[in-house]
Amino acid sequence: MSNDGRYIKHMAFAVRDAHAALKRYQDFIGVGHDAKVQDYPKSRNRVAQFWVGDVEYQLCQSLDEGGRFDTWIKERGYEGLHHICYAVPNIDQALADAQAKGATLKECSACKVTGSHVHPEGWVAFLEQETGGIEIEMMQVYTPEQLEEYKAVKGI
Ligand SMILES: [Zn+2]
Repeated sequence: MSNDGRYIKHMAFAVRDAHAALKRYQDFIGVGHDAKVQDYPKSRNRVAQFWVGDVEYQLCQSLDEGGRFDTWIKERGYEGLHHICYAVPNIDQALADAQAKGATLKECSACKVTGSHVHPEGWVAFLEQETGGIEIEMMQVYTPEQLEEYKAVKGI
């Protein structure tokens, strides 16, 4: 069966300590040795990023109490899979199709924007609805030309 160009862009896990969580992946599973751990001042997150096969993992730690991932962990009492980002070929079409089936859009907690908007790797949007308790993010990944345009506009 074709997935019409849809695939997992990344899986984001809410963790208390990105470095400690990463060490477990390295020690117990043997992945993540080439991970990049970065702080994002805008979203106030620390993220350990690495790939398992073709799937990007993001271990996300809030830098502040009351942050997106801190709140999520406190509400549930455990760390876990916070959201899966699905790459879609056309985000406007994907959102229109989902909305036609009853989906509603959720505000991006980092940008405070609802619906499709620019992120560093592509246009993203979040849905209010979940699959199996996992938040849904969609991303139309930039083409190399669109990425250059994004960088030019952002001055990076
Ligand atoms: Zn955003």
